Amino acid sequence: MQESATIKMSKMSRELKAQGHDIIDLSLGEPDFDTPQHIKDAAKDAIDKGFTKYTPVPGYPELRKAISLKFKRDNNLDYTADEIVVSTGAKQSIANVVLSLINPGDEVLLPAPYWVSYAAIAELAEGKCIEIPSTIDTNFKVTAAQLEQHITPKTKLIIFSSPCNPTGSVYSKAELEGIAGVMKRHPQLFALCDEIYEYINFTGEKHHSLAEFSDIKDRVITVNGFSKGFAMTGWRLGYIGAPGWIAKACDKMQGQITSGTCSIAQKAGEAALLGDLTPSYKMVEQFKKRRDLVYGLLKEIPGLKVNLPDGAFYFFPDVSAYFGKSYHGTALNTPEDISLFLLREANVAMVSGESFGDKNCIRLSYATSEEKLREACKRMKEAFAKLA
Ligand code: PMP
Ligand code: GLU
Repeated sequence: MQESATIKMSKMSRELKAQGHDIIDLSLGEPDFDTPQHIKDAAKDAIDKGFTKYTPVPGYPELRKAISLKFKRDNNLDYTADEIVVSTGAKQSIANVVLSLINPGDEVLLPAPYWVSYAAIAELAEGKCIEIPSTIDTNFKVTAAQLEQHITPKTKLIIFSSPCNPTGSVYSKAELEGIAGVMKRHPQLFALCDEIYEYINFTGEKHHSLAEFSDIKDRVITVNGFSKGFAMTGWRLGYIGAPGWIAKACDKMQGQITSGTCSIAQKAGEAALLGDLTPSYKMVEQFKKRRDLVYGLLKEIPGLKVNLPDGAFYFFPDVSAYFGKSYHGTALNTPEDISLFLLREANVAMVSGESFGDKNCIRLSYATSEEKLREACKRMKEAFAKLA
């Protein structure tokens, strides 16, 4: 198993910073905002009230009830508390589902570009990853027809995120309906839908879930969490809504590996879901402002191909126009070469597209201040101009 590319790059950038380099870190996808005050207060209150013991493996009943209400309120989805499992981050939720469902040799479809950890987790379960490629020209989305072409008798699961990390693309209700249609024709196929960026959506339209299509809902697992929408990355809290038998399997697995997640974080999560969402909406407004800013700045860099992301907080520019160019005699041929060049020459940390299943792009997170984003884009532009 390879080290996570996002974690590796952020580690490298932390080390360079510690050595005194003036690094602007756009590698890790992490909101720079603080967790809203009422959520922190709920956590402090939880400690004072003695919520300090082991928790039920799938999460406190009150939190699962709050998640059930959230699914109904935001997504018009019916999940009972028994169909919900709370975990130590959406990453663990995904691992629980994949390890529960995938047997050695099962094929896992990954519309590419995809989030780095999907492939690593599927491989850990001895599944075979099958990438369905897309490019910037189709806004990095795959069609239902493309999906259907990749299905074999061994296909078990499709995993995708919408809004997508790393591309920011958002699947519309009509596009999801197309995917649901394919699932209807292939009754062995399950879908793991990662909706962790649900709130960070700039389309102006309601977020849509694959599980809305009732005739396939019994084969859909909806993943969500608190890291992005509530700026709670360090609290480690995520969850699934799933058919009862899959939730039960995840509960069993989690009970042997980590048990119920942190009691204090769970109480904070309950407050996040049931409390005022205004702080989340304000963060989204900021993300949208930054997206527009960075879009303009990246467009000014000759050779970069950029799309306007509809959600999440990433850009995934195509840098292939620079392949074959050299700096001080060294040729740059891959996104990894380009991202290492930008780290060294521009002191800007980003993640190469290869680990997201893409050979032309690099990912930058714009979850940082406008000042840093302006400076980073300026440095990138100057560095690219040095390539001959
Ligand atoms: N899915 C996607 C698409 C992500 O970007 C992330 C990054 N954090 C996760 C899941 C995992 O989130 P968590 O912090 O809840 O583990
Ligand atoms: N999901 C974030 C990212 O893609 C955080 C890093 C991680 O969990 O891999 O950068």
